[in-house]
Amino acid sequence: MAVKKEQLYEGKAKKVFATDDPSLYIVSYKDDATAFNGLKKGTIAGKGVINNKMSNHLMKLLETKGVPTHFVEELSDRDTLVKRVSIVPLEVIIRNVSAGSFAKHYGVEEGIIFDEPTIEFSYKNDALGDPLLNAYHAIALKLATREEIEEIKRLAFTVNRELCAFFRETGIRLVDFKLEFGRLDDGTIVLADEISPDTCRLWDLQTNEKLDKDRFRRDLGGVEDAYREVMRRLGL
Ligand code: UDP
Repeated sequence: MAVKKEQLYEGKAKKVFATDDPSLYIVSYKDDATAFNGLKKGTIAGKGVINNKMSNHLMKLLETKGVPTHFVEELSDRDTLVKRVSIVPLEVIIRNVSAGSFAKHYGVEEGIIFDEPTIEFSYKNDALGDPLLNAYHAIALKLATREEIEEIKRLAFTVNRELCAFFRETGIRLVDFKLEFGRLDDGTIVLADEISPDTCRLWDLQTNEKLDKDRFRRDLGGVEDAYREVMRRLGL
């Protein structure tokens, strides 16, 4: 079994460790939560365990649907062995329903169901506040090549199709979500980071009740219960 060696990086919600194999890292999920580019901080008890398990479950599902991911093996409640990737510094956001920054930017209510999903990119750069950009900007800034962006778009829409169908079965609407992709040493683009209630908006299909990090962002209460409810519905 892979063992944790030195810590390479500590992010807002996860730590990354080296292992004895240079091509493999261990990610360790924390209970820390942040919002609004780090302005709001808190903890969500048990979140690390939930996000680790849920993300691994969804990555495994996506692998069976032809989406390559960084997932290798779940090591414990909070720790997962992943392939080392170089992260493409783009946040890839897919939306099926208006919410959050989309509703704010375009002056529309939340909850409008789109005829087709949308995709947008932001530059993963905390100092700049993760500004929105388009594919041409990303190429100009050498964040990714045109071919990589085409592949990322194709994979992101596949992820959306598969996850929408999967969540629907559990009575949940996948409103929007953020993905990150990485490059393996041979240049293959794989899905990386996490897929969890921290990175997805998940609404109850019947009542539109929010079952995701918006409960933390907006001080709605019942944050832990919402995360647990998603796990329960997923049978995890
Ligand atoms: N999101 C994320 N990390 C970010 C920004 C957004 O995981 O740094 C997710 C967020 O949880 C939501 C989707 O991406 O599911 C769209 O977020 P939006 O652009 O509406 O921004 P927000 O309103 O969360 O600031």
